[in-house]
Amino acid sequence: MTDWNTRTKLVHTGTRRSQYGEMAEAMFLTQGFAYDSAEQAEARFVDCGDDEFIYARYGNPTTRMFEERIAAIEGTEDAFATASGMAAVNGALFSFLRPGDHVVAARALFGSCLYVLELLAKFGVEVTLIDGLDLGAWRGAVREGTRAVFLESVSNPTLEVIDIAAVAGIAHAVGALVVVDNVFATPVFSRAVALGADVVVYSATKHIDGGGRALGGVICGTRAFIRGVAEPYLKHTGAAMSPFNAWIMLSGMQTLDLRVRAQAANAQALAEALQGHPKLARVIFPGLPGHPQHETAMAQMGSGGTIVTFDLAGGRDAAFRFLNALEIVKISNNLGDAKSIATHPATTTHQRLPDDQKALLGITPGLIRLSLGIEDGGDLIADVMAALDAA
Ligand SMILES: *Cc1c(COP(=O)(O)O)cnc(C)c1O
Repeated sequence: MTDWNTRTKLVHTGTRRSQYGEMAEAMFLTQGFAYDSAEQAEARFVDCGDDEFIYARYGNPTTRMFEERIAAIEGTEDAFATASGMAAVNGALFSFLRPGDHVVAARALFGSCLYVLELLAKFGVEVTLIDGLDLGAWRGAVREGTRAVFLESVSNPTLEVIDIAAVAGIAHAVGALVVVDNVFATPVFSRAVALGADVVVYSATKHIDGGGRALGGVICGTRAFIRGVAEPYLKHTGAAMSPFNAWIMLSGMQTLDLRVRAQAANAQALAEALQGHPKLARVIFPGLPGHPQHETAMAQMGSGGTIVTFDLAGGRDAAFRFLNALEIVKISNNLGDAKSIATHPATTTHQRLPDDQKALLGITPGLIRLSLGIEDGGDLIADVMAALDAA
């Protein structure tokens, strides 16, 4: 099975068939499992086998199919599916860290990830936030007693690409665990584990579902981490993914590679078309040779990804005129969807941040984050260009 390529794994890995031999992945919408005998129930609570289940908060056959499939794609021994991406981030960090531990994290984080780090600090974990692009800052911040480093491999919304291999080298030198939120890189372009990540976290809500239907998340890592560290915390605190959502994610995964590659091609074409546009102060896309971490992006993803960010020189008013003139691209705040989505981070996803922090993170009033869908690339470019004319 390990010599299958990604597309084959995305369609077949992890499938468990019932006695009926159903072709599609079955949805086991059940919280409990009947035992043949009291002895069997007892035995299962003592040592639950890989193909045995007790309670859906601990595991479920449909959820397990999803976990096995994503672990196979990511190249980790195991995975644990969670109710949302944030449950995965929270679970990966809270299950592992103790009061007195030290964590170093890249500052350019999704707002809710920052909130989780603030919570850790409240519970006695020392958190140091640094500029993730500055390897000197990583070297200066880690020390004996640093138990984990945490980073978004490609930051939201300004698409800074952190050198996972370099950071992992620095972290591993002091024995710290490398935890990567890899949503923007997508499981298709991820080489995080090969580059040294120990734990990789996804919001499955994004590209994995790909249809903007269900919330989900997943933690990928070694069997020892997933079953020994993450699972005990997650199964007792109730972060489990619903079997219904796992079933949606399984169907999403079948087309994940096709969709993400089409989205990335649309992103590359749009970014190239936008370069030098008179209404834009900057175009940010790791696939453009002018992006400051272009080479890192190519080395660790082989792609610029599926998101393009750009800054309208006319500020907030121009950004709003642009958004309101779009016809195909929807105004929303998900990403990775088959439908193209434009977001104005300063007034929505990052509204909570004080102005000085927005400025520090490059979230200017004219900034638009555009998640490319799978629509026709020519239609999308025409839609964006017409909206820029209107801005
Ligand atoms: C969306 C997102 C999350 C959170 O995922 P949810 O499924 O919404 O909980 C975490 N990190 C990044 C980078 C994201 O884009």
